[in-house]
Amino acid sequence: MINISKNRCVGCGICVKGCPADAIFVKDGIAIIDQDKCINCKLCIESCPQKAAKEIKQELLIAIGTDDGKRIKSGDHVGMSKYFQVWKYANGEFAFEENRENVKYKEDESRIHGDPGKAKATASVLENIDVVAGKMFGPNIVRLKDKFVCAVIREETIKQAIEMIKENINEVIEEKDKQEKYGLILR
Ligand code: SF4
Ligand code: SF4
Repeated sequence: MINISKNRCVGCGICVKGCPADAIFVKDGIAIIDQDKCINCKLCIESCPQKAAKEIKQELLIAIGTDDGKRIKSGDHVGMSKYFQVWKYANGEFAFEENRENVKYKEDESRIHGDPGKAKATASVLENIDVVAGKMFGPNIVRLKDKFVCAVIREETIKQAIEMIKENINEVIEEKDKQEKYGLILR
């Protein structure tokens, strides 16, 4: 599927004029693709002066730190979450996969933030995960950011987090493909 980044689109309408399937419209200054009409010709990718349109083929596994399954972990960094709620992203949609208990959570309470062993423990719970999302990361961001896209989402609920990742999926995938990664602030 082709997706347009709201962070790059300036609403110029060049892609709208060039779309052979009449599949793009601009609303509130941002181009939106009607996926039912899109024939995947990629002309909008070629014509966009902002590089806002991107073809997304990847599937992603996203882990959101939480204590209650509804809200994003707050008051401490994501590594201190009781468990991670794992969601799969594919073809523009999110589907719930599983809850993974942060097994080292209790043992780690006595450890200082930034402990390498703690980072290793968190990483073991997050095997095969592509994106870790939370409100804040601790000093172990220096170790985690090489393994995962570390996404900071300053919203309250997991539902809002999913929407935020969906809206920023182009940037999330670009970050995943980088050799040197940095924490990504999603707005
Ligand atoms: S050409 Fe690019 S910047 Fe212009 S409206 Fe389309 S997506 Fe947005
Ligand atoms: S890929 Fe082609 S059909 Fe789809 S929105 Fe872009 S220009 Fe239109």
